[in-house]
Amino acid sequence: MSVDVAAARMSADLYVGGAWVAGEAGALENVDPGNGWVVGSVSLASAEQVERAVVAASDAFPAWSASAASERGGILRRAADLLADRTEEAVATILLETGKTEADARGEIGRAVETLRWNGEQAGRVQATTFPGVVAGSRRTSVPTPLGAVAVITAWNFPAVLATRKLGAALAAGCTVVFKAAEFAPATARLVVELLVEAGLPDGVVNLVFGDPQQVSAQLTSSQRIKALSFTGSTAVGKALAAQAAPQLIRTVLELGGHAPVLVMDDADVDQVIATTAGAKFGSAGQSCVAPSRYFVHESLYDELVARLTARAASYVLGHGTEPGVTLGAVAHQGRVDGLVRLAEDAVAHGGTITTGGRQVERDGFYFAPTVVAGLALDAGAAILSEEPFGPIATVSSFGALDDAIVAANAAPYSFAAYLFTDRLSVRDHVVRRLNASNLGINQLAPSLPDAPLGGLGNSGYGYEGGVEGILAFTQLRLVSETALGLAG
Ligand code: NAD
Repeated sequence: MSVDVAAARMSADLYVGGAWVAGEAGALENVDPGNGWVVGSVSLASAEQVERAVVAASDAFPAWSASAASERGGILRRAADLLADRTEEAVATILLETGKTEADARGEIGRAVETLRWNGEQAGRVQATTFPGVVAGSRRTSVPTPLGAVAVITAWNFPAVLATRKLGAALAAGCTVVFKAAEFAPATARLVVELLVEAGLPDGVVNLVFGDPQQVSAQLTSSQRIKALSFTGSTAVGKALAAQAAPQLIRTVLELGGHAPVLVMDDADVDQVIATTAGAKFGSAGQSCVAPSRYFVHESLYDELVARLTARAASYVLGHGTEPGVTLGAVAHQGRVDGLVRLAEDAVAHGGTITTGGRQVERDGFYFAPTVVAGLALDAGAAILSEEPFGPIATVSSFGALDDAIVAANAAPYSFAAYLFTDRLSVRDHVVRRLNASNLGINQLAPSLPDAPLGGLGNSGYGYEGGVEGILAFTQLRLVSETALGLAG
């Protein structure tokens, strides 16, 4: 297949109260990380425009929340069909503004379609629960009630999946939204909103803004009209937003960073470990919250795993997603490259050996060579063992006793994805109980699919996305206890 870049429109305006408008606070360039070229622009909202978006969402809430759930679901399912129909445009858009490969961009659009569809189907299934009453003729009902206008803020690395995951759940629940999408991937967010509008979304139900992230988020979290905040992004920003939202007691879901350990036991098949995890490690150039990033390998398989992972990493073909044969794309910007160089140098200073990569690749755009750092002691103290690398780099360390590997894995302050390779049931049970992981893949990947809840702990955040729980996160369970007087006594 190939990508038709002419299909993509790479600029994004704001969508406020049912109208596309230019931002009054100027614009930023939309840069293609794959070659550094400016491909479009993103409009920045003034404080007044953000306020208009908040008011529009708040005003649209009564009618939207009172609409039939089947109607809301119908809009989401139609948007899924529209996105599927416009796959080529969406793939080109994602690829040009994120630096992904064609395979990664296609995979993401497929997942975004699935996410809209699942939330559309689920909208009509958000049910109340009835409990017996305590006196004759009485009953109690727990009713999921949409919270109101909510703020949604997303990261750039999966711009279609994150938009559809949050908007799908919020809209299914009956909430209205002010959506502050990432300025690094604005056109994908614009496309998702456009498709929802085309699918029949009433004016004001979703409002899209970009701007100065700090100012916009401060405005959203201090507004009396905003009832919840759902954020996906880095741990540092998530902590700042949690603090901003706290004085108003705005309910918050935080999907933050990850630093996934991979535990490889002595009965594992090294080929299977590499075949399973390498795609997740180097896909989207490692910029994924579930990317395997720290391999802890039983000493009996260590040399073999280092050799195979090194060979696999070295086999990737770097380049722009439109070039034929490219299997690994760019990272977001030069700051990411610099961060990865720093982590690699620090790892060497702490006793690691770079078996492949470890450097910026000199070509237009922002590329870091796929990198393996071997030989770090479990307690080496290297920054890369505790800091989310968010790039195409992995460490491999050797262990003798499983509990030593678990202690080392748990030393990073995240709890999100983790992987275990073994066929021994006793080891699985032990690891499930002891490893800090919220999403454990055993002999397989740990996908975040639309139908199952997923949420982090520690520096990975809190609250759930996905599944019924992800929709319920946008509701309040109202308990109604009632007695029919004619029947009482
Ligand atoms: P980021 O935190 O820099 O940005 C995320 C969003 O916050 C963007 O919309 C950005 O404009 C905004 N933002 C940036 N600085 C801000 C500030 N000071 N105040 C308020 N808002 C601000 O993150 P990113 O680089 O876009 O994304 C990468 C991070 O997201 C990684 O840590 C990754 O693990 C995480 N992530 C987590 C999940 C998950 O499901 N847990 C999924 C995808 C990405």
